[in-house]
Amino acid sequence: MPFTEVADRVWVRRVPSYDVNLVAVGGERGIVVVDTLATAAEARAAIAAIGDLRAGPVVAVVNTHDHFDHVLGNATFKARYDDPPVHATEEAAARTDPAAPPADHTFSSAAVIDLGDRQLELVHPGRGHTAGDLVVRVPDADVLLAGDLVEESAPPSIGVDSWPMDWPQTLDLVLGLTTPATVVVPGHGGVVDRRFVEQQCDDLRAVAETIRDLAARGVPEADALTSAEWPFPVEALHHAIGRGYAQLPPARRQLPLA
Ligand SMILES: [Zn+2]
Repeated sequence: MPFTEVADRVWVRRVPSYDVNLVAVGGERGIVVVDTLATAAEARAAIAAIGDLRAGPVVAVVNTHDHFDHVLGNATFKARYDDPPVHATEEAAARTDPAAPPADHTFSSAAVIDLGDRQLELVHPGRGHTAGDLVVRVPDADVLLAGDLVEESAPPSIGVDSWPMDWPQTLDLVLGLTTPATVVVPGHGGVVDRRFVEQQCDDLRAVAETIRDLAARGVPEADALTSAEWPFPVEALHHAIGRGYAQLPPARRQLPLA
């Protein structure tokens, strides 16, 4: 599949397996690749397509978080180009699948990649899909690469390593980095806008508030899914309940029925 240029020198490659996005951002010094796909073969195919862009070599790689479908191509990019630095949060680097070289340029809250004529801002907005998600801003093009903090083609993926009670506040911070015109590239699925992110944030806030309410009313964890209305299909929420209940302070779980 070809790259689609969604803004000035911001190219998105939407890959059928896992419907995951690899993004290439071009500048004077070359290209930054954001997320490296799930296999070496997929990374090699992306590298061939990057060559067709005629926008220079890959000079840096970013992992939005540690999941395999975003990092397992790291070694392929390092081998094909001149060992480009791989950027991620410290948390994501520490948790990266042993099958991939983890990020070697890490940060805790924010970092900048300088491409000469444009700067990319890397921001860790808080815990959400994982403990170590980052988003990438391309300020001159008003683009935001959201990683799996936002998903378009499926409900947001709330897994065993997710933080559903923190995720809404984290997306509030992400929304603060956007304008009404921002092009938002999710980790999976098609390009969206701020309005879409606001809606997903509202839905995630409803999940967190419902979990807080159920726990406060003494509803057992095992009954939670069938005891409320949810904005997402229940099969997408199994880990949300466990993670949410576990995260609430014990005192709140013992409040008497109102
Ligand atoms: Zn993920």
